[in-house]
Amino acid sequence: EGEKIGNGQSRILVFVRLRPMGKKEREAGSKCCVRIVNKRDVYLTEFANENDYLRLKRLRGRHFTFDASFPDSTTQHEIYSTTTAELVEAVLQGRNGSVFCYGATGAGKTYTMLGTIENPGVMVLAIKDLFNKIRHKSFDGHNVVHLSYLEVYNETVRDLLSPGRPLVLREDKQGIVAAGLTQYRAYSTDEVMALLQQGNLNRTTEPTRANETSSRSHAILQVVIEYRVKDASSNIINRVGKLSLIDLAGSERALATEQRTLRSIEGANINKSLLALSSCINALVEGKKHIPYRNSKLTQLLKDSLSGSCNTVMIANISPSDLSFGETQNTLHWADRAKEI
Ligand code: ADP
Ligand code: MG
Repeated sequence: EGEKIGNGQSRILVFVRLRPMGKKEREAGSKCCVRIVNKRDVYLTEFANENDYLRLKRLRGRHFTFDASFPDSTTQHEIYSTTTAELVEAVLQGRNGSVFCYGATGAGKTYTMLGTIENPGVMVLAIKDLFNKIRHKSFDGHNVVHLSYLEVYNETVRDLLSPGRPLVLREDKQGIVAAGLTQYRAYSTDEVMALLQQGNLNRTTEPTRANETSSRSHAILQVVIEYRVKDASSNIINRVGKLSLIDLAGSERALATEQRTLRSIEGANINKSLLALSSCINALVEGKKHIPYRNSKLTQLLKDSLSGSCNTVMIANISPSDLSFGETQNTLHWADRAKEI
């Protein structure tokens, strides 16, 4: 955090969230291969080889440490307050911020972002917090909160609040925008959960796996807030901030999926967006001048969320099951890389 303040440049804060073992996983006899210690350290174990001394030695390389790592007992509120609450403060100060959830399908990204009615996730808790805080900060009570919710699927951009034709990306003074995207004006938190759940139902689902919706689509919620404050000399200042919350597509490789025809073409496109995001992150890590935002729809849309002095949070979601060992390892490596920005 010292660095962040020191040179005025933000870095990505990287968190890991372990979800509880699912019923199916337990029934399949899977074991837990992830251990989280001290709220920071993640140990990955190849359980089957627990008694094998040589392998155990190799396990030393499978230790990761992050800004915080959350065990499976962590509540949605704890996730929100540790990962995103500060970002919401920055947005209230008129800055931009973004939160990404990354991980394989089934790892808990949508649960973390959207959550359920009983346990709302980061999207809902952030909006709730924004509403509460604006009320206190706004000098005249006036505020505007706009929501837009969109999907990138197969390199096509769609409006999740008003499904229809694909949207075209355009470059204007504010950056790259999706032309015609719904800007929904929200007046309270209460309406938001239903709105987002409906939006999520509009995400493109996969015909091959009826029970696993939207694993190839990236969902982006953008919250733009506007309100007025008075400075020390009673000048009225308009504050505008933007928070982007992104539920990324499943990070598993397309080749690992069962069907390879049309599915894998789509998979290749998903990889295109995720790969483009990875390349941008790599370029940022390496301090390159040229960041290849243009390579995909996702990175074009997120350009202003990744570049400059923005505040970015990455939450890597993982399953505890040894059946997902490979994906978990990939996710942790990816997150480990992202943390160097
Ligand atoms: P993803 O969006 O990454 O594909 P989901 O968020 O849909 O994964 O999670 C997969 C399943 O696990 C869902 O049934 C979800 O409710 C459950 N789940 C995920 N994370 C948690 C958690 N922290 N606590 C309880 N259940 C969870
Ligand atoms: Mg999901």
